[in-house]
Amino acid sequence: MIKVCKFGGTSMADGINFLRVKNILEIDPARRYVVVSAPGKRFGGDGKVTDLLYETYREVKEGGHVGEAYAKVAERFRSIVHEAGVAMDIEALLFETALSIEAEQAEDFTASRGEYLAGRIMAALLQIPFIDARDVIKFDALGRPDARTYDLLRDRLRGLRRAVVAGFYGEGPDGKVKTFSRGGSDVTGAIVARAAGADLYENWTDVSGFLACDPRIVPNPAGIRRLSYRELRELSYMGANVLHSEAIFPVREAGIPIQIKNTFRPEDEGTRILPDKGFVPSGRPVTGIAGKKNFTVIFLEKSLMNTEIGFTYRVLEVFKRHNISFEHIPSGIDTMSFVIDSEQILPDLEAVEREISEAVHPDKIGVIPDMALIAVVGHGMSYNVGISARLFTAIARTGVNVRMIDQGSSELNIIVGVENVHYERTVRAVYEEFFGSEI
Ligand code: ADP
Ligand code: ASP
Ligand code: MG
Repeated sequence: MIKVCKFGGTSMADGINFLRVKNILEIDPARRYVVVSAPGKRFGGDGKVTDLLYETYREVKEGGHVGEAYAKVAERFRSIVHEAGVAMDIEALLFETALSIEAEQAEDFTASRGEYLAGRIMAALLQIPFIDARDVIKFDALGRPDARTYDLLRDRLRGLRRAVVAGFYGEGPDGKVKTFSRGGSDVTGAIVARAAGADLYENWTDVSGFLACDPRIVPNPAGIRRLSYRELRELSYMGANVLHSEAIFPVREAGIPIQIKNTFRPEDEGTRILPDKGFVPSGRPVTGIAGKKNFTVIFLEKSLMNTEIGFTYRVLEVFKRHNISFEHIPSGIDTMSFVIDSEQILPDLEAVEREISEAVHPDKIGVIPDMALIAVVGHGMSYNVGISARLFTAIARTGVNVRMIDQGSSELNIIVGVENVHYERTVRAVYEEFFGSEI
């Protein structure tokens, strides 16, 4: 039995937590490979080491040397080593790291040093080998781990009963350190789990598993005991950031289940994420609710657009020219909407509108700004007509106007678009409708 355990930022935040992690690992000998994040917040208002490192990079770029931000990073690691009683020369390691940051002058390299240092310290505390992710995780030109990664990592792990791997980064095709997007240590954990042929990928965080919705919107939401890979992908992509939305891919290929666990309540069962094949949905229609703000919708109306060959193609060509990707394309018989992340579209909005008009001559083109998307996800919704009725009645009852609806053909989710200002209120109303009796 092999378990790969990834510990997130809060679990690594101070020396006491490092000791907590050590205990968790020692209780179960199957917990052989450990993936660590950089130390996160210790309390509300505290800084995350990764954020301080991005600031360090700005300092180095301006003045050539590490400054105040790095001093704060150094102090965080110094106190972890002190508090956890780790026998190592932390001053030498911090000094050497500062020199390498100044020599490299690269943002990704600087940001990655949080995981690097946390990994070195954790390995010293556990007295097991440290694996530098740049030696084993290799990215292709598109920023995805390439074929060599699994061979390199497998070879490396084969010789080691236990090891610590630094999360969040690897090496790009140019030989330089490259990071995943924020929260990417979850992806490292999944890659290590697959390379190790793990029976389970344990992801240790600061909540007792996936909750039915964001706890910052609804206090104490119901917990989710079991999720399928597909439900996970929908929820995490749509903003349930317990797990990075790309962490699913390496484990899905190998059919490895994921268990979300709480470092601060290890006795809680947490959430088990299982392959789609053979997944038995829970009895309830909705598994979870997630959402994101700040989308822009471009809607088009044209009679008989469905019979016009190449209509969508010509619109998509405009987006391609501007290097813009879309989230959804809900469509009706003579209407089509394109839902796009506002940050991407806003700088080019006028040009895109003009070029679409020239390309397809719609009867009407319009823009809805400041939209939020809410995904209501669950296998139990399939072919269950009554669920949409309940959903829309619940939203209407709060006085919120639904601006857009998209139901994927999988019937695994329904996505509704509402104005940003109505986001929280809508999530609460939907939660109340499907989980209300459990509050
Ligand atoms: P880590 O640093 O361990 O990787 P993250 O901060 O990335 O942890 O993810 C855990 C956080 O995700 C929780 O503290 C919680 O605030 C937030 N979160 C958002 N949506 C959900 C949800 N549906 N269920 C549980 N937690 C959620
Ligand atoms: N430390 C990185 C971040 O803050 C990666 C991670 O925690 O997964 O985004
Ligand atoms: Mg995370």
